[in-house]
Parts: sequence; structure tokens; C-alpha cells
Amino acid sequence: MKHIGHLLPSQQAVFVDRGITKANQLLTEWQGQTVDSFGLVGLPLSKTSISASGAASAPQHIRKALGAFTTYVIEDAIDLKGQQVIDFGDVGMHVTDLVECHRRIEASLTELYEQHPKLTPILLGGDHSISCPSIKAFRKTKGRVGVIQFDAHHDLRNLEDGGPSNGTPFRGLLESGALRGEDLIQIGLRNFSNGQLYHQYAMDEQVQLWTMRDIHERKMENIITESLHRLEKKVDAIYVSVDMDVLDQAFAPGCPAIGPGGLDSTTLLKAIEQLAHHPLVHGMDIVEIDPSLDFRDMTSRVAAHVILHFILGKMKLGRNEC
Ligand code: CA
Repeated sequence: MKHIGHLLPSQQAVFVDRGITKANQLLTEWQGQTVDSFGLVGLPLSKTSISASGAASAPQHIRKALGAFTTYVIEDAIDLKGQQVIDFGDVGMHVTDLVECHRRIEASLTELYEQHPKLTPILLGGDHSISCPSIKAFRKTKGRVGVIQFDAHHDLRNLEDGGPSNGTPFRGLLESGALRGEDLIQIGLRNFSNGQLYHQYAMDEQVQLWTMRDIHERKMENIITESLHRLEKKVDAIYVSVDMDVLDQAFAPGCPAIGPGGLDSTTLLKAIEQLAHHPLVHGMDIVEIDPSLDFRDMTSRVAAHVILHFILGKMKLGRNEC
């Protein structure tokens, strides 16, 4: 291609540095091929949120936020630029029928996993309700599933009072039999964010619970190691669900349920990399970002880093590095 001086086509007329690869350049639109790498899918549903939420617009914001970062990992002298993330687009939602929205998520992801059995999905919510149909689809094609959930909340509310919402995804999974309580690990639970009834329900169901105090006392790295050890002996695949409200409000102002006393972003990102480094971890969702509440896309930018650290962990696994 011929150039005149530094002239660029108008659609590319931005600052270009050939020594830099931006992280959004990892995304490649799906062209119908079978995919055995990472696959990105947007699940833009937030009408199921108990509080008002614009999380349906998060997938596009997170994709865009990747463009704020490069692919180079200075601490490990590793470049992610050879990694491919196929962008399958978003699941189209029904305008008014929330149960139909969940049905579409489960059906679409089931078909996706059947057609691409080696795909590692990275799913962008949406509110946390999407994890119920998403994990059901994951379980249908992967076998017995273990779930590691980062969250300030149990999300084990009963389904009778208000139907499926962002407060019920793990209740729905346990009640349907898609997930056993002993295969669910919740990390980052916070004071003044949950009810005693659901705490008791979680313990009765043998869900493993790690509060913020546990993280301070035992260190996240040890909790992740123990969690993986607990699951690897009995499940076929592990799914990681990242509710961004596990972060302290100082790090995630774009979450509908912000609050103090939560994780810092570095601790979360190191945990994601550690998890991705395990061969049984085959999928992840990121939920509960409302870009309309965010400040300078801070929360979407953390989500972009969650994706990059997940890819980094898998890349190190491929190179057999710790
Ligand atoms: Ca949640």
C-alpha cells in the first residue's frame, strides 16, 4: 500500500505507532470457522436487575475499553498479540420477556459450545442473572461443573418472590440441579450486603464461602489454590463468574451495588490470572457493570484487564510457566 508522507485513510486518521499493539486488536470478528481459542460473547441483558441497571450496554464498553491498553506484559516480558479472541457478537434479547432472554442465552451458548468444543468462552454481561443460563449451557457440554464466583453477594435469593433476577442466578442453578452446592465457591462476600437466611441456605447447601475477612487473613493466593484443589478432584470443568461489585466502590464505581470494604483491583486480577493458569478453568463471565454510572470507564477498564489477565494465565499455562 502506497503512502504519501504520513497521510492515512480518513478512518485510520488517528495516532499510529507500529511498535504498539492495542488490546482491542486481539478481537477478530467470527467468519464461520471452527474456533479452538478464546471466544467473546456479549449478553446484553439488565432488565432482570433488582435495582435499575444499564448493564446491557457493558459489552460494547468493555470491548472499547480494551483499546485503552497494549498487549505487552512488562512484568513477564510476554506479548499477548499472537493470541486470538474471536468475537461472536451479542445474543439478541427479547424486549419484554425476561424468561425468553434467558432461554436465548442458554440455547445460543449450548449451540456455540457444541459447534466449538475447544472454545474458551469469555462472556460479557449484562447483570448477574445471565450466569444461570450461561452455566446451564456450559454444564450441558462440559459435564460436572465447578463455579468460582467473585461477588459481594450470595445471589441465592428465592425465585418465588420476584422470579429470576440478578439476585437469584446461583439459587436457580442449585434448584435446577445444574450445579451442586459443594461445587460452588463464593469469594469476597461482604458485611451488610447479604441476609442471614441466605447465608444459612448457602451453608446448608455446602457452598464454600470466603468473606473479605477470610481474604485479609488467609491471602487470596492461598484461597484460590485451596478452591482449585477442592474442585479439581471432582468436576470436569471450572467456570469463573466475576461480579465486578466484589471490588471496593473505589475501584468499581460503575457497579449498581457499590459499597466499601471490597477487593482492590490488583488482588482480583492476580486471582484471575492464577485461575486461568489451571487447565480445568474453561470459561468466565464478567457482570454487573453499568457504564451509565461509571466514571471515566474505570469499571469497564478493570473488566478489560480481567480479560487480559485471563488470557495471560492461559498463555502461561501453554508455556508451562507459573
Ligand atoms: Ca452478584
